[in-house]
Amino acid sequence: MPIYEYRCSDCQQKFETLVRNSSETVECKFCNSSNIKKLISAHAITSGSPETACGTAPCSPAPACGSGGCCPGLN
Ligand SMILES: [Zn+2]
Repeated sequence: MPIYEYRCSDCQQKFETLVRNSSETVECKFCNSSNIKKLISAHAITSGSPETACGTAPCSPAPACGSGGCCPGLN
């Protein structure tokens, strides 16, 4: 499940939340405002995504494809 980072437009706090489905309403954890903006999550870019070259198998404990090519950034 993806973790998204948001910033609240009301209190300017940043927070991360797990989004189970995209239609779920996300509210600020600090002031419960729904006036928030989704930020580009660093987790999604680096290691947050479970998707690999092999498909959806996670890279740990071992690459499912056996070639070691699932996570070139981690080698
Ligand atoms: Zn807030």
